[in-house]
Amino acid sequence: MQKETLEPAPPVPLGIYVCGPTVYHWIHIGNARTFAAFDVVVRYLRYRGYAVKYVRNYTDVDDRILARAKEQGKTAPEFAQFFIDEFRADARALKMLEPDVEPRVSEHVAEIVDIIQTLIAKGVAYESQGDVYFAVSKYPAYARLSRRNLADLEAGARVEPGEQKREPLDFALWKAAKPGETWSWDSPWGRGRPGWHIECSAMSRKHLGESFDIHGGALDLIFPHHENEIAQSEGASGRPLARYWMHCGFLDLENVKMSKSLGNIVLLRDALEQVDAEALRLFFFSTHYRNQLSFSEKAIADAELRMEYFYETLRKVDGGDGGPEAAQVMAEFEAAMDDDFNAPAAVAVLSELFAELNKPSKDKPKMAGLKRAALRIGGVLGLFGDAPDAWLERHRARMVRQRGVDEAKVKALLDGRAAARAAKDYKESDRIRDELKGMGVEVMDTPQGQRWRVLP
Ligand code: AMP
Ligand code: ZN
Repeated sequence: MQKETLEPAPPVPLGIYVCGPTVYHWIHIGNARTFAAFDVVVRYLRYRGYAVKYVRNYTDVDDRILARAKEQGKTAPEFAQFFIDEFRADARALKMLEPDVEPRVSEHVAEIVDIIQTLIAKGVAYESQGDVYFAVSKYPAYARLSRRNLADLEAGARVEPGEQKREPLDFALWKAAKPGETWSWDSPWGRGRPGWHIECSAMSRKHLGESFDIHGGALDLIFPHHENEIAQSEGASGRPLARYWMHCGFLDLENVKMSKSLGNIVLLRDALEQVDAEALRLFFFSTHYRNQLSFSEKAIADAELRMEYFYETLRKVDGGDGGPEAAQVMAEFEAAMDDDFNAPAAVAVLSELFAELNKPSKDKPKMAGLKRAALRIGGVLGLFGDAPDAWLERHRARMVRQRGVDEAKVKALLDGRAAARAAKDYKESDRIRDELKGMGVEVMDTPQGQRWRVLP
């Protein structure tokens, strides 16, 4: 992998295509990490002034969708629609931007058939008993992205039972419908449905053109998916598919890639029962998107504490009535993000900024400028979208639940402490403070009165 200078191709907008979910299940936090990484890429490019067209697809035609729909007595379109809706709810919960286009395979079959016909006409694809395959040996540029060696690939490839291909490395563009398979379409080769890889070639061409700027996904997609997309798209158009490829590293659980097939997954929606959405995003940004990231309960709990500190600070500091953000801080943030979207470096800039915001200062315009910088940077990372009071209230409620704190008792003790302080009985007020501490609760005296938080 190497870094390159981003020089988007005219005409605007800058096109970005991200391979989206296969909608047969709820997404796990590994998927969420990848989508959150590209969410920040899009937000940052827009912050930088680029007009961006963001396309993220739904793979709604897939063996697993057909099989599970059947098990549940649903039609495949009903089943897929259910998980598309669920995905959208999850994406909103994680505060992700909506892409400009969310194309589905089932709505692009004509475009898929069109590319396949071009590939057959060019001699790089062939029909075989109702299936159509891409002929890898007819396409010399194959596997340049992953820099794999064809001989090695050939040694590892085999023809599975039921496949009609000529050579083991060939891959399916179109699969003839099996008897009883209802979600299928008419084509020049009979009824059938698209193979997996061709969908992204067809949908990216339709919505971004033959050649666009950025193509993304996680590392597992480099081979064969993206390699095959390149072979199909470039084989048909003769033009480079994407100018830049970006691949996100895996989220691991106990050092094993989180994956549906391995069963070691934490669903995003389950994680969001335990941790705040912005805290989960902050956890994702603790490592560069290209690197592997390890999930643990402690890591997300720490991220939530960090968010609590950020929001406490935002609540405390007066942001004034508008005006510029602190320029030096914004320059540092841009330097971080211009270097391959280095979100952890951007978070480090935020950390310094919050340390500064926590130092006592009489320079109100300076503090206001710093706070506005914090909010602007937060906006690009998808953080600080809540009002501090509301966020802190939700955080406390979650902590109360997780620690089993007796909230009614806390409130009674706080009332007692307020009364003691009003009577200037500081001995009693300190005693109550200690009693609360024993319950895992910290009291803070602020100009607005007592506030309390659950200790970590
Ligand atoms: P899928 O629904 O399996 O096609 O995956 C949707 C997206 O999540 C793809 O871009 C995958 O590459 C990505 N992905 C899958 N597993 C992980 C993981 N453990 N960590 C990060 N990204 C992942
Ligand atoms: Zn794709």
